[in-house]
Amino acid sequence: AKRAGRNCYMFFSESMNKAASIQLETENNLKIALQNDEFTIFYQPKVSYKSKQITQAEALIRWNHPKKGLIPPNIFIPIAEKSDLIIDIGKWVRDQVLQQLTIWQEKNFPPIKVSVNVSGKEFIKREVLQHLLDIFMKYQIAPHWLELEITEDTLIQSIKDNNTDYEIIRGMDVGLAIDDFGTGYCSLGYLKDYPFETLKIDKSFINNVTKNEKDASIVKTIIAMAHSLNMSVVAEGVETQEQRDFLVANKCDLIQGYFYCKPQPVDKFEEFVHNFSQQ
Ligand code: C2E
Ligand code: CA
Ligand code: CA
Ligand code: CA
Repeated sequence: AKRAGRNCYMFFSESMNKAASIQLETENNLKIALQNDEFTIFYQPKVSYKSKQITQAEALIRWNHPKKGLIPPNIFIPIAEKSDLIIDIGKWVRDQVLQQLTIWQEKNFPPIKVSVNVSGKEFIKREVLQHLLDIFMKYQIAPHWLELEITEDTLIQSIKDNNTDYEIIRGMDVGLAIDDFGTGYCSLGYLKDYPFETLKIDKSFINNVTKNEKDASIVKTIIAMAHSLNMSVVAEGVETQEQRDFLVANKCDLIQGYFYCKPQPVDKFEEFVHNFSQQ
């Protein structure tokens, strides 16, 4: 029995070592990727149902690996979040987006508000506010062209920590959105007390919105509630005409999803915006 126990322990510790070494290896590769400028940002349009224009977009990071090609964020962001790398990546993304907004402004590209995803760890470690102050000094961009997408769980953690950075951030006129709304533990009560002006309904509610009565009524309720709190509503993951029509009929302010356009590299995104505004 002793022997089995020992073997078991050895096995356990070996597999733990393996997991730890994979984590370390990937962390190292991510560090190198950041140094070698291997990350890139894709942009996905959000279409306003009122103006029928692309008024906003979400910035989504990709890792353009020299051998493996494009790696999606779900593969490497969780690893980066286990170390402090996510802080450097977050700063890189916001810097990159402000640089892009500057380029667009200089060439008179139609004005587009860009949202970036902020990891809970960056917010909880209070790395975001100072960085925003830094980049808005560096680039001549009005802060209302940037929006931060924060998940419910990050917001709740900040409330527990008495972290009021988002109030200062909102005071700077940077937009704040609650991402993946409906999947976390955000009670409706929080919404009225905090300065978020946008609510993004999670894709999981959109998937069956035209097939499932309950999803339909949840989505309608979220939209009505958000509007009564003067918030605007974005639906993410909209893939079909039927979903889009349902959302428009229910006055969802912005529609984002493959139905219009997948996230695109900046040149393709510009082309899409250009063609869209000609329709
Ligand atoms: P998210 O913030 O919920 O972003 C939406 C995801 O849904 C994106 O995946 C987007 O490409 C995808 N999507 C958009 N429309 C559709 C659709 O119609 N159908 C389907 N099936 N998917 C759609 P992506 O780009 O792979 O990003 C995955 C997640 O990675 C994001 O989820 C976000 O949590 C995280 N992420 C992406 N970029 C960053 C970043 O710069 N920083 C941080 N911290 N996280 C990021
Ligand atoms: Ca998002
Ligand atoms: Ca989302
Ligand atoms: Ca989501």
